[in-house]
Amino acid sequence: MKLQRVMSAAYWAAFLCLAVPAHAEWIRRVTDGIMGTQITVELWSEDKVEAEHAIDAVLDELRHIDESMSTYKPTSEVSRVNAKAADGPMHISKELFDLLVTAKEYSVLTDGAFDITYASVGYLYDFRKRVHPDEAQIDKALPAVDYRHVILDPKHQTVRFSQKGVRIDLGGIAKGYSVDRGIDVLKARGFTRALVSAGGDSRIIGDRFGKPWMVGIRDPRKGEGEVITRVPLTDAAISTSGDYERFFDEDGVRYHHIIDPHTGHSASKVLSATIIGPYATRTDGLSKTAFVLGPEKAMEIYNRIADIDAIIVKLDGTVIYSNGLEPAKASGAPRGK
Ligand code: ADP
Ligand code: MG
Repeated sequence: MKLQRVMSAAYWAAFLCLAVPAHAEWIRRVTDGIMGTQITVELWSEDKVEAEHAIDAVLDELRHIDESMSTYKPTSEVSRVNAKAADGPMHISKELFDLLVTAKEYSVLTDGAFDITYASVGYLYDFRKRVHPDEAQIDKALPAVDYRHVILDPKHQTVRFSQKGVRIDLGGIAKGYSVDRGIDVLKARGFTRALVSAGGDSRIIGDRFGKPWMVGIRDPRKGEGEVITRVPLTDAAISTSGDYERFFDEDGVRYHHIIDPHTGHSASKVLSATIIGPYATRTDGLSKTAFVLGPEKAMEIYNRIADIDAIIVKLDGTVIYSNGLEPAKASGAPRGK
């Protein structure tokens, strides 16, 4: 009996050695300074050097996207589009073209709540310097806000703005997009368990050896460590938008970084919205909608999209879940997709 137990222990030890190579470990790097946010890459690897190279490659990819898409960089491709596209069709990279097509799809899907031309008024805000436009400035800029002003020609791979004053900003989708590109880099190198996150946008591949990754959703009115719930996720993306990310308060009004394309004001119909789905580009693109349309209308849209789930914190602090999360909500822990 005793021998049998010893043998089975030896057997299991050998089995575990096969399943989890001796030197394999979780490797994690946190980096600031790309896309104005914190980037986290974590992966399971048997080779530390290979893992560090892979993380370098992910960060290079993210820097490249930032160089091309940041409106803070006057030389970026997006800045050049903003300067020139009202003059006539402009040839742009395939990468930017495809993302502009995707952005337009999300505008249609969200009844115009997601709209990269929000920037036509959005540029008048500076949340760090506590600057916001007055009503006259908003009225003047607002006609330029409409995703239909962005004219894309797939044959010639060009973009044109239908009128002067139109500006685009990919801040509402670029982080999710770069997270997806980062995951692609890791997949191409053979990694099967990893997380890439950029600010509020994350994507996970694989699990944590039989267990899901647990992703906390922050309580919008409490400190960073305080969560309203933790979501178990495997092979999924998750994005949270909150009115506490970039904001200032003035005379009882919160000015924050999500803009209602219909009014030019900060969109304040919820405190936070979390979207869970297969790709971070998609979850990022959809997380702004609840702020603009309000919890009920946004949830209707989220429930209509098959591969999406949502958790919304309403203005009174109550939390609502999309249909796909309802059974789990009853048992206290929403499931991931
Ligand atoms: P984060 O930048 O932390 O990922 P969000 O995903 O909530 O935060 O995106 C907020 C950003 O989305 C803003 O900083 C702005 O660049 C952009 N944005 C604001 N309003 C809209 C809108 N109505 N449609 C599309 N993008 C928007
Ligand atoms: Mg985001």
